[in-house]
Amino acid sequence: MLWGFNRAGKEDKRMGFFDKKDCALCGGKAGRFINYKLVNGEYMCADCRNRMSDHTEDISDMTLEEVKEQIRLKEENDARYQNEFEATRVFELDGNHKLMAVDDNRAEFVLLEEKNPTIFSFDQIMDFKVDLHTKVMSQEEQKKNAGLNGLMSFFKSEEYLSRYPELPNCPAGCKIVGMYFRIRLGENPFRAGKLEIKMLQGWSGYKTEVENAYRCADEIYRCIQEYKEG
Ligand SMILES: [Zn+2]
Repeated sequence: MLWGFNRAGKEDKRMGFFDKKDCALCGGKAGRFINYKLVNGEYMCADCRNRMSDHTEDISDMTLEEVKEQIRLKEENDARYQNEFEATRVFELDGNHKLMAVDDNRAEFVLLEEKNPTIFSFDQIMDFKVDLHTKVMSQEEQKKNAGLNGLMSFFKSEEYLSRYPELPNCPAGCKIVGMYFRIRLGENPFRAGKLEIKMLQGWSGYKTEVENAYRCADEIYRCIQEYKEG
């Protein structure tokens, strides 16, 4: 039963299993299996952690007061997302996979993977890039590729790559196994450092998935660039 380790905030220090310390915030026992230890030695349960932004980092360096402030900020954020945030643009892989919404009137954005998205402003972006994960193709895969009418080669062709000069290319003899849009944030109320958007679930062999990933990554890239340069 390792489900607890797959939650957001991978770098947080956790207490061991079966630790029954009470949560300093709610006093609940919900955190019997996964507790977060704060800087002054108090414990917090997973439910209370989930009242903060998914993107909040370094929880183990926070005091109880700082945690309370983060929860307050997130509640304020959620109300603002419901009542004020107006998506003027939405970037999506396809109709079922919406990744990012932008409020151009406020120069703000949210990542839509989060259930109650955290609002960030474009001012807070320090850096952004697209990472491509590739893997050398085996002889067999090379043959299969030929069978797919050179599908892999298509994504390496001049014609295809010239459409997306800002995005990384897949090296010869390799296949694409992942694509991540990474955003590094400067100072922000939620103490978030990095945002990651998964552009591709994995190499499934479907051309449209890679094409959607490239197209959507390019749209997001251009959008951020507009804000940074404009
Ligand atoms: Zn709690």
